[in-house]
Amino acid sequence: MGLTPNVRPDRPSLSPRRSETTRVGSDSPISVDISTPRRALAVGAHPDDIEFGCGGTLAKWASSGCAVYFAILTDGSKGTWSANTSTPSLVATREAEQREAARRIGTNEVTFLGSVDGELTNSPQVRRQVSQLIRTLQPDVVLGHDPWRMYRLHPDHRAAGWILTDSIVAARDPLFFPDQGLNPHRPEKLLLWEAEVTNHVENVSGYLDAKFQALIAHRSQHETTMGVEVSGTGDGDTDFSPLYEWIVSELSSQGEAVGVLLGESFHLITDL
Ligand SMILES: [Zn+2]
Repeated sequence: MGLTPNVRPDRPSLSPRRSETTRVGSDSPISVDISTPRRALAVGAHPDDIEFGCGGTLAKWASSGCAVYFAILTDGSKGTWSANTSTPSLVATREAEQREAARRIGTNEVTFLGSVDGELTNSPQVRRQVSQLIRTLQPDVVLGHDPWRMYRLHPDHRAAGWILTDSIVAARDPLFFPDQGLNPHRPEKLLLWEAEVTNHVENVSGYLDAKFQALIAHRSQHETTMGVEVSGTGDGDTDFSPLYEWIVSELSSQGEAVGVLLGESFHLITDL
């Protein structure tokens, strides 16, 4: 992936998801808090993307009885700065970390769709996988990467956004993949994180710790995407304060637009 010695190309080491370019829609009010869905499906390109994007929101909904499902499109096999890492070992580690992170959010439902990290494409094969998941799980709400986000560098994040939006269309219209033998399903709402234009915020005050604990479950990513200096072998030796402060700062600024203490911002689409 052309990694530089100290910083992943799209992620400054101490501010992996800084949202300074996220604009707030000026000509429409920002809504706050949809009603808790019965079933929610979050689709991320890599292990840890969902926690960064909507971990607080999912933790909140799970605590209110929502069935939360995670789907990870790629195997996470590029997620290291160590060129000597064994790929099968890294993939297995990241799967285990993702399961633990999801458990800390409040669900054991994680599906790994297995595209190669860095090579995700919006292909009929991947849309078949995602539309099948939507038709099978029948979520009211779907969450994912915003494909309209400008100047997004990581190819998988761009592709993941288009895969999800296109798979929603495929899942709802009966002539897409009829051989799946499943009824079409139309979700009610789509929430896009790292949104190009924010028009919705979920109040996640009270769910900061769930999001933080889920993020640090991705131990293999502490150094690469979370800016956490790894020292020793256990979390007890690690100083997470820069990451924690970054999360607080992000959620505070995202909540500020609507007057809540901590928020996660999205672009909400209801016309599906
Ligand atoms: Zn990612």
